[in-house]
Amino acid sequence: MEKIDILSLDLPELEKWLTEMGEKKFRGKQIFQWLHVKRIFDFDEMTDISVQLRAKLKEHFCVNRLFVQKKLESSIDNTVKYLYKLSDGNFVETVLMDYSYGKSICISTQVGCKMGCRFCASAIAGFVRNLEPSEILMQIYETEKDMGIRVSGVVLMGIGEPLDNYDNVIKFLRLISDKNGNNLSLRHVSLSTCGIVPRIYELAELHLGLTLSVSLHSADNDKRSEIMPVNRTYNMNSLIEACRSYIEKTGRRVTFEYAVIDNVNSSDKDADKLADLLRGMNCHVNLIPVNKVRERSYRTARSGVSEFAKRLGQRGINATVRRTLGSDIEAACGQLRRDAAGQNTNGGAVC
Ligand code: SAH
Repeated sequence: MEKIDILSLDLPELEKWLTEMGEKKFRGKQIFQWLHVKRIFDFDEMTDISVQLRAKLKEHFCVNRLFVQKKLESSIDNTVKYLYKLSDGNFVETVLMDYSYGKSICISTQVGCKMGCRFCASAIAGFVRNLEPSEILMQIYETEKDMGIRVSGVVLMGIGEPLDNYDNVIKFLRLISDKNGNNLSLRHVSLSTCGIVPRIYELAELHLGLTLSVSLHSADNDKRSEIMPVNRTYNMNSLIEACRSYIEKTGRRVTFEYAVIDNVNSSDKDADKLADLLRGMNCHVNLIPVNKVRERSYRTARSGVSEFAKRLGQRGINATVRRTLGSDIEAACGQLRRDAAGQNTNGGAVC
């Protein structure tokens, strides 16, 4: 009998299982709190649960822990990068970042990615599988346990496309914010997507209160199709339309991610086109110096990014340049996982 992954169950599901097994419903809340509040993952340590019920839990459930395969700590800025090994031997990356307002964690949602963005290391290594809700969640719980901290913000910007693993990501968001459990306000969560348009509409309907980040990287439809194949399925106009609708439905500002790449999307004309595209929208632009990936020749001149930001600002578009974190520990998405699979890339930082 295959055991049930207990950390992927929400409270009503856990209560349903317990009542079907002839147990009292309130036991569900107790067990849920052991897991999500006290972070006790060994059923034997759940001391207010009877020995008989603990035995039943052990028989039917498993807790899929993540194992630290590699842990890199930046000596420059306290960024910590984990390569976690999953129970099936696959790897995912998680990055803990230290900001003045608290710790923020960048987590992965898939093993690999199908989206094929030209500049992204995750894309080169290909797609393996979706992460379960518990595997997304445990990147946070294991990191918090290892570091003895609590994170104040979560960004879904690691390996994978969150909206391509929609159901598990939504379940994860419900688990992490459950009032009876970890109780993180989703206002402190950002979800980054390359632009799976129908899912943006669906997400808006849920009114979760999270920040939607959209990886735009070009305001020119043809150019965007070249560097982001997803644009051939959901073109830029349909993406911007979906973002407008998201803003209107949720009242939340959207962030646009833009990796500035020399000779690709960094000219004055590119900045003007972006300003025209976003004018009047309740949004913010986050400019990223592109990270080096060995197989690609993409580069960013630091001065290019600030020039680009300045030009956007002059055209009324609110833009910031993302601080590069963990530049000494290869913190860019997908690079460690590929190393583990024997494929090397260069350093740099994204998350
Ligand atoms: N699939 C999602 C989230 C993962 S990627 C998305 O596309 O948004 C997280 C962010 O890092 C995205 O904005 C992505 O475009 C960006 N990114 C990927 N590789 C990069 C690189 N080499 N340099 C700079 N940003 C990169």
